[in-house]
Amino acid sequence: MTTYNPPIDDINFCIRHLADIDDILKLEPYDGIEVADLEQVIDESAKFACDVIAPTNVPGDQQGCAVEGNTVRVPSEFADVHRQFVETGWQAVGGSAEFDGMGLPAITAFATNEMVQTANISYSLLPMLTSDAVEAMEAHASDELKASYLSRIVTGQWAATMNLTEAQAGSDLAAITTRAVRDGDQFRIFGTKIFITWGDHELSENIIHLVLARIEGAPEGVRGISMFLVPKFLLTPDGEPGERNDVRASSVEHKLGIHGSPTCVMQFGDKDGAIGYLVGEENRGLAAMFTMMNHARMGVGLQGLAVSERALQHASAYALDRVQGRVPGLEGRAPIIHHADVRRMLMLMRSQIEAMRALSYSAAAQTDISLHGADAETRAAADRRLSLLTPIVKGWCTETSEQVTSLGIQIHGGMGFVEETGAAQFYRDARILTIYEGTSGIQAADFAGRKVTADEGRELSLLLGELREYFAGVNNETMKGIVAGVLAGLDQLESGREWLLDNALSDPTAPGTSSFNFMMLAGTVLGGAYLAKAAAIATSDDSSEDEAFGKEKLATAAFYASHVLPRGHGYLSAMTADPAITMAIPAESFQA
Ligand SMILES: Cc1cc2nc3c(=O)[nH]c(=O)nc-3n(C[C@H](O)[C@H](O)[C@H](O)COP(=O)(O)OP(=O)(O)OC[C@H]3O[C@@H](n4cnc5c(N)ncnc54)[C@H](O)[C@@H]3O)c2cc1C
Repeated sequence: MTTYNPPIDDINFCIRHLADIDDILKLEPYDGIEVADLEQVIDESAKFACDVIAPTNVPGDQQGCAVEGNTVRVPSEFADVHRQFVETGWQAVGGSAEFDGMGLPAITAFATNEMVQTANISYSLLPMLTSDAVEAMEAHASDELKASYLSRIVTGQWAATMNLTEAQAGSDLAAITTRAVRDGDQFRIFGTKIFITWGDHELSENIIHLVLARIEGAPEGVRGISMFLVPKFLLTPDGEPGERNDVRASSVEHKLGIHGSPTCVMQFGDKDGAIGYLVGEENRGLAAMFTMMNHARMGVGLQGLAVSERALQHASAYALDRVQGRVPGLEGRAPIIHHADVRRMLMLMRSQIEAMRALSYSAAAQTDISLHGADAETRAAADRRLSLLTPIVKGWCTETSEQVTSLGIQIHGGMGFVEETGAAQFYRDARILTIYEGTSGIQAADFAGRKVTADEGRELSLLLGELREYFAGVNNETMKGIVAGVLAGLDQLESGREWLLDNALSDPTAPGTSSFNFMMLAGTVLGGAYLAKAAAIATSDDSSEDEAFGKEKLATAAFYASHVLPRGHGYLSAMTADPAITMAIPAESFQA
C-alpha cells in the first residue's frame, strides 16, 4: 500500500507568491476571506486526500470497472469515498455561492484538486468533470436549466460528463454525427459516443451528460454543432430524479491505465431518443463546450503534476530503503539514494514537478482575475494570459509526467517493472494524459496557431518582457547562474516565436513540424522561469519562508537550470529545422 504525503508547504508557497493570493483576495467576491482561511481548507483537504482517497488507488486499479445489468460497476471503495467527498463539501470548493458552492477563489479548488488527483487519478476524474461541467453551465445555460440542475452539480450530489468523441470524430469534432431532433421545447438525441469518462455508475443520484450533437438541417462542420444537457434520470415536476432517460452505457473499455475510471461507450436514443435540453445557442455548441474543455485542459495538466508527485514520493521511499552497493564515505552497503545517479533521477523528478507546480499555479491564478477583475481590460488581459498558458500546462506537464513516472520505475530497478511495488501504476495512469482532452499534437497546434501566430506573438512577447524585467531585478549572488540560464531560455523562446511568425504562413507544413517542439520549449523555459522566481522569493532577504524550504528551493532551481533548461537548445533546434526534413519520406513508404 503506498502512502501519500501532500506537499502542503510548496502548494501554499505557490498560492501565496506565484498565484499572488493577496491580489486575488482583493477581488469583490472574496471580500472578507483571509489567506489563513484558505490554508485551513487546504490543510483539511490534504488530510482527506491522504487518509480517505489515497488508500483506494491500488484497489481501484486492481478491481477496474464493468457493465453490470443496467449500470456500470466501479471499484467498491469509491462509493464511500465519494459519499464523504460530497457530504464534507469538497466538490463545492470552487463553486459560486449563488449555486451553493463555497465561493472560494478558483486557485483554492486548483490546490485541493491537485491533492485529490495525486491521491487517485481514476477517482479524481469524477469530481473533475463535474466541476468542468459547472463552468460550461454557468457560462452558457439558461436561467431555467441553471435553476433545475446547477446547485446539485456544484455540490456534487449529481455528477456530470463530457460527451464529444465518436468513432469517426476524435480530434476532428467537425465529423460529429449524433443527431438532435426537435420535440417541442426539448430535443431527442440519437447517437453513440465513445470513451466517455465516468459515463455511468451508481455513485450519484443522477448523471448530467453534456452532449455535442447536430440539430437536423444544421450546417456541416463545426458551425453546425450544438450542446445539450441530457440527464440520466429525467426530473419529476418537483425537480427530483424520476424516470430513466433513453441513455445507457453499452460497454466499458479495457485500458492500459486509470482502471478505476469507467470509460464508457454511451448509447443515446436506443428507443424514442434521449431527451435533451439545448445549452447556449443553436450551432454554437462547440464554443460552449470549449468553456468546459479549457477548464478540463488545466485540470489534466494538473493531473500530470499530480501523478508525478505520487511517483516521486513512491520512488523516494524505495531509494531510502533499498540497499545495494557501496558508496565512498559510507560504512557497509548503502541505500541506493546515496548513489549519485539515483540522486540525479530523483532531482530530475523533483525539479520538474516543482517547475510544473510553479507554472500551473501561476497560470491558474489568472482564472480568478479573468472572471472577477476590477475592469474589462484587466479581465481580458488575464483571459489572454490564461489562454496562452493553458495548452502549455496541458501539453508540457503531461508530456513531462510520462518522463517523471518512467524515472520512478527506473529508480525501482526490476521491481519497478513488476506490478507489486505500485511504481508501474503511475506510469500506466500517466500515459492517457497526453491523449485525452486534446492530444499533445492538438495542444501544440493550439499554442502555435491560435495562441501565438493568430495573435502575431503579442501575448507571448508581453510575458517574455515581464519575466525579463522581473529577473533584471534579481541581484542575489546565489541566483546568478540560475538567472543566466533562465534569460538564455527566454531568448530561445523569443527566437522560436520569431521563426514561427516568419515561417508559419509561407510553408504549410512548418506549423505542424515545429509546434510540438515549440510547446515543449515554452514549457521547459517557462516552468524554469517560474521555479527560479520561486527560488528568488524564497531566498530573498525579506522572505518569511522557512530557511530549509528556501535552501531546497534554490537547490531544485539550480538543478533544473543546469540539467533541464539546456534541453531548450534541442527543442529550438528541432523546431527551426527545415520542415522538408520531416516530410522527406513519402507517406506510402511507411507501409510495412
Ligand atoms: C481513457 C479515455 C478517456 C476519455 N474521456 C473522454 C470523455 O470523457 N469525453 C470525450 O468526449 N472523449 C473522451 N476521450 C476521447 C479523447 O478525448 C480522444 O481519444 C482524443 O481527443 C483523441 O482522439 P482520437 O482518439 O480519435 O485520436 P485521433 O484524433 O484519431 O488522433 C490520432 C493521432 O493523430 C493526431 N492528429 C489527429 N488530428 C490531428 C491534427 N489535426 N493535427 C495534428 N495531429 C493530429 C493526434 O495527435 C494523434 O496522435 C477519452 C479517451 C480515452 C482513451
